[in-house]
Amino acid sequence: MFTNTGYINEISKRLKAFLDEKTYTHCINTAIEAERLAELFSADKEKAAIAGLLHDCAKTANVLELAAKYNLKLDPMIMSSRQLAHAYVGAEIAHIEFGISDEEILIAIRSHTLGNDNMTVLDKIIFVADFTEPGRNFEGVELLRRQAKTDINEAMITAIIGTIRFVLDGRLPLHMQSLSTYNSLISERDKMND
Ligand code: FE
Ligand code: FE
Repeated sequence: MFTNTGYINEISKRLKAFLDEKTYTHCINTAIEAERLAELFSADKEKAAIAGLLHDCAKTANVLELAAKYNLKLDPMIMSSRQLAHAYVGAEIAHIEFGISDEEILIAIRSHTLGNDNMTVLDKIIFVADFTEPGRNFEGVELLRRQAKTDINEAMITAIIGTIRFVLDGRLPLHMQSLSTYNSLISERDKMND
């Protein structure tokens, strides 16, 4: 179990009312996994736990209605896709309903489906933990879990490739940010290897 400070405990209790059982369990699992990865890769464990807990807080809500209500200025592809919009709406809910004002946490929540250019370690941890949490079972999860033991950057590259591949295999619209995230990670890796 993750560091259950009173504050985090309070958030997890309140979160229950926002989600169905399955998504709630996924959020708890992601928080535990994110905190574990934060310990491994020297990130802030409390921020990781909170971002992990809240990353899918919009998942069972009427995401597209909320995106309009919060007046989010997102491109039409995001505004018309529950799957893409839930990350951005989730950051709004985390801010408005849970009183989270820490930008690092909010950005990590916002970036958990498309990634971002120049992702922070916290952003990468949340993105990866979403896939490596213990409840997940998909082809390739073991490789990702192995990489996430030693190299969060390599794991993040694998995770964004998995996301892009999933979109292409499903003949779904591919958001340009996914490609931009991939390119940003590759150039970061190349710079590190220089
Ligand atoms: Fe999500
Ligand atoms: Fe998730």
